[in-house]
Amino acid sequence: MDFKEKIRVIEDFPQPGIRFKDITTLLKDGKAFRAAIDEMAEQLKDKEVDLIVGPEARGFVVGTPLAYALGVGFIPVRKAGKLPAETVETAYSLEYGKDKLAIHKDAIQPGQRVLIVDDLLATGGTVNATLNLVRQLKAEVAGAAFVIELTYLNGREKLPDLDIFTLVQY
Ligand code: 5GP
Repeated sequence: MDFKEKIRVIEDFPQPGIRFKDITTLLKDGKAFRAAIDEMAEQLKDKEVDLIVGPEARGFVVGTPLAYALGVGFIPVRKAGKLPAETVETAYSLEYGKDKLAIHKDAIQPGQRVLIVDDLLATGGTVNATLNLVRQLKAEVAGAAFVIELTYLNGREKLPDLDIFTLVQY
């Protein structure tokens, strides 16, 4: 399936000069959404991960069905202040802005193999912050997976030690 055909590009959102890749048009197409998750699950099934870790909010939308398809658990990473139990936190910057991410301290046992999942890899700031969190919890990192990679932002080059899978590239 041509997944790019299902992704809408919005010019100048959320700021002038940014060509936002809108996955809501992929998500509302049931066949395409399922095909995208199934394709990712097929490509990632041999990684033998214990858990998928996904940053809010679109990391939940892609990460939870992928966890379900692989039969593994899902761990949410949220903006600081949102998770109810004890957390560890890390500061990060993204394509447009800055923030702090958090994960529950007891979400991952040392040595568990995790796959980080989000909708899109841009500068790599979000996945790098998520890596930071899972490393604080002594997870073994199996890699990261995204629906979309913006290759012109070179996020992959900043993460040379990370095994990265992306479904479509711009
Ligand atoms: P990075 O941290 O790699 O620079 O940016 C990736 C994060 O920002 C992801 O969590 C992603 O959801 C969000 N993001 C940045 N640009 C876009 C975009 O064009 N489309 C979508 N859907 N998300 C984006």
